[in-house]
Amino acid sequence: MRRTSSFLVVLTFLLATISPLTSADTAADHARQLHFSSIVLDTHADTTQLFFTKDYDFAKRNTGGSHVDIPRMREGGLNALFLSIFIDASIQGPPAIQKALDQIDAIRVTVRDHPQDLLLATSADDVRRAHAQKKIAILMGIEGGHMIGNDIRLIRIYSALGVRYMTLAHFKNDEWADSSTDKPAHNGLTDYGKDIVREMNRQGMLVDISHVSDKTFYDALEISKAPLIASHSSCRALCNHPRDMSDEMIKALASKGGVIQINYEKSFIDQAYKDASDKATGGVVEMMDKIKKACGDDEECAGLQMKKMETQLIAEGKLPHVTWERIIDHIDHAVKLVGADHVGLGSDFDGANMPEGMEDASKLPKITEALLRKGYSESDIRKILGENTLRIMEQAEKVSAELKAQ
Ligand SMILES: [Zn+2]
Repeated sequence: MRRTSSFLVVLTFLLATISPLTSADTAADHARQLHFSSIVLDTHADTTQLFFTKDYDFAKRNTGGSHVDIPRMREGGLNALFLSIFIDASIQGPPAIQKALDQIDAIRVTVRDHPQDLLLATSADDVRRAHAQKKIAILMGIEGGHMIGNDIRLIRIYSALGVRYMTLAHFKNDEWADSSTDKPAHNGLTDYGKDIVREMNRQGMLVDISHVSDKTFYDALEISKAPLIASHSSCRALCNHPRDMSDEMIKALASKGGVIQINYEKSFIDQAYKDASDKATGGVVEMMDKIKKACGDDEECAGLQMKKMETQLIAEGKLPHVTWERIIDHIDHAVKLVGADHVGLGSDFDGANMPEGMEDASKLPKITEALLRKGYSESDIRKILGENTLRIMEQAEKVSAELKAQ
């Protein structure tokens, strides 16, 4: 009797110890199963710049502080990625076009050289085909209207080369669209800017309103026949940064079928960090100008400089810690506001300061697990991970076919 009761005590103790572990394991397993069977599509990474640096190899696991490469995409289940084509917005005209073409070629050559792993995707179907073949879909987006050199014909040329979105402006105004981080010069989109949006619709190129002024966003929303994307922006209600979207803007975007792809940059997701960073650096534009002065067009130098400045400010205790859960807060805020059909992922990997716990693409399964634990349905999580962006691409393709048939 005594032996039985002590056996029961031991058994009860063991069960009490084991069962929470088992349920945690089950939740983690469930999350992994869901994550690794989904199309995980990120609409913005600046990794292209690294293709031009000597120590980086997209096919190898890199340790120099970068966020994305094939091994870490595989590890994190990131199987579709828009690589950004980017040059500083102070460069306009033919040199900006030349740089954009260099980068498009670099992406195409990288895909060509890794046919076992990569597939160049220019449609939603291509992304699904890549997924079925267990390859990573690589897509291209132009980050800033200054790269068309104020010439609408470049929309057709870039589209023919496979570019599937263009951000209407970057940190500075371009010739036809106002930026969110510059003094308004055009009151939103100029008439030429509106024609450019129409031509993007014709070409099936997604209209990206990250980086643009609020007025440019509302102008583009009115003109575009296809839904818009905010390829890498977060929620202003949680972090009041001009790069983020107000609740009113997110609602307007969603009312026309659009998607906000949440950016993981610390100063876009955490108010305390943003305030401290502004105080220490004078704000994002001033910081970029300082880096530009020190590095010129050398993007490798710019990346290193940015990292150095941040490391130094953290060491001096001038910047607070930000953890990856803030990304979940922004996803959840947008979902509560407009529903799971209008939210996606736009990390800004290799172009931003990542929060702790989201050091690189390999950490992405955490997002799926966190959303599952919050009670999100599998179907809503798949939408956020990639299906919403695919839906938008399909809509843009349909609008393009209709306009070309007219
Ligand atoms: Zn950006």
